[in-house]
Parts: sequence; C-alpha cells; structure tokens
Amino acid sequence: MSLIEWYQENKRDLPWCHTTSEYLVLLIEVMSQQTQISRVGKYLERFTAQFPTLHDLASADQRDVIIAWDGLGYNSRAVNLHKTAKLLVDKYKGKLPGTVEDMLTLPGIGPYTARSILVFTRNHHDIALDVNMRRVWTRRLHGHDGVVKDNVLREQLTSIMQDPKTFHSATMDFANMICLPKPKCAQCPLTCRFKPVYQLHGGNVLRKRVKKVEKGVTENGKHVPNRIFRGRIIKLLRSGEQTFEQLTLVKKDYTKNDQSWLIKLLQKLESENKIVFGDTVRLQ
Ligand code: SF4
Repeated sequence: MSLIEWYQENKRDLPWCHTTSEYLVLLIEVMSQQTQISRVGKYLERFTAQFPTLHDLASADQRDVIIAWDGLGYNSRAVNLHKTAKLLVDKYKGKLPGTVEDMLTLPGIGPYTARSILVFTRNHHDIALDVNMRRVWTRRLHGHDGVVKDNVLREQLTSIMQDPKTFHSATMDFANMICLPKPKCAQCPLTCRFKPVYQLHGGNVLRKRVKKVEKGVTENGKHVPNRIFRGRIIKLLRSGEQTFEQLTLVKKDYTKNDQSWLIKLLQKLESENKIVFGDTVRLQ
C-alpha cells in the first residue's frame, strides 16, 4: 500500500482541509505553529467571526487582535500576523506573494511556514520540512530515526512527490496517527526500512529527544517559564492599565529580589510593541 492510498482511506477530514482561501491558510499555518492542528478549529472559528477577511484584520487595532488570540498563547504570533496582514494589503494588493523568498520577508513567517502556505494555496512543488515530515521519511527511506541533511531529504521527496498538497496532508496525518514519535509499526501497512530495526530492538533505537529548559524563574519551588508570566501579564493588562506594583501579582511568591526580572520581562514586551511601559503599564 502506498502512503497516498492509506491517506485516501484514513484521512482526518478536518473542516478546513478543502479551503482554497489564502487568508484561511495563512491563519491556520500561523495558529498551528505552536498549537496542535486538531485544536486549531475552535480558535479559527472565533478569530474569523471577528476578522472575516484579511482587510478586516489589517485595519484592526493591535489590542483587539491580541485579545482575539486568547487561548492560543505566544502573543508575538498575533502581533506578527497583524503586521503581515497590513503588509499584504499595502504591498501585495491583499494577496500572498508567490515565492519562498518573498514569503520570508513577512513578519513571523519562517522557512517551514512559507513553504507550507505555498503548498496549500498554490500546490507549490517545494517540500515543507517539519518534524513530522522528517520523522516519517527518515525512517522509511533511511531506516533510522536520526538526522538526515535537509537537502538530501528534499531531493528524495521531490522525486517521490506527485501532488504536493496531497503528499503533505498525507504525511501529516500519517505522522499523527501511525508513525508517531513512538511508532505503531505493528499496524503499519507501508513498506519501510525502519520497521525490521524497530521490531528487533524496540524503543532502544528511537532518538532521544533532549528537552530544553525554557528561560524562567522559580515560583513556589517549581520552575515556571517566562512564557507563562508573559501570558499572565497580557491577561492582566486586558482588564485595563496597571501599576508596576499591581503587575507583581503575576508571580505568586514575588519578592523584591524579582524586581529586575519583572522589569526585564516588561521591557522585552515593550520592545516587541505589545505594551507601553511608563509610569503605568498598558497594552499597546
Ligand atoms: S513501519 Fe513504523 S517507522 Fe516505518 S513508516 Fe510505519 S510506523 Fe513509521
């Protein structure tokens, strides 16, 4: 059985899979950068109810965009998405650019997102390599769970791929249902060089993924990443302007020793144009 045959029988029919709207594809790709694709649906519905078109988003206040982003985390994505919408309206007549190079000039759009957007809007023949694509195809083609150079994998996949949109959707679904980090080889119908290795040695041959410790501080004896505190700050500011003293509430066991840490966090948010940090603090 080929991957595409497997996909035709097993695909997750996510409601937006059939969209050809450039705006929706842009939103889905940015939202799914840090949020599981299966959870994006409800946020997408809420966001598009408030900003139905690219022009609506471009002309909105940044504050409203950040508020509408609630629940998706990483508010810098909302800020970049808003900037991108403005740029597309001002410079590209409301359309997405047609090349990877031009896509990469848009705020918050990296090499994977640029290629993926082009695949799903224009069926572009350029492989969007993410962790799923790498895992499935490194195992199938190379028989291991390690690292293969991007240019090698790209060249191989380009020669296999027929319809880019179907190929990318199929790989994504297969990676999320069968070829998981801990693969379900026993129920996998595809030919694969990794299968006998995995069946013989089990989980011992899986690449150990080293979890990076995110920057943060200790709160009540536990390490809490700065990302969480940034989210709490933004949440508090959504209820209105705050004094510095009021913002110290974002850390449950705040003491004077945390002062320079909190100031740095606020300065960073200000440098990202999310807040105004003066005598009081408010959303941008
Ligand atoms: S046999 Fe196992 S490793 Fe190979 S593609 Fe299938 S699930 Fe992935």
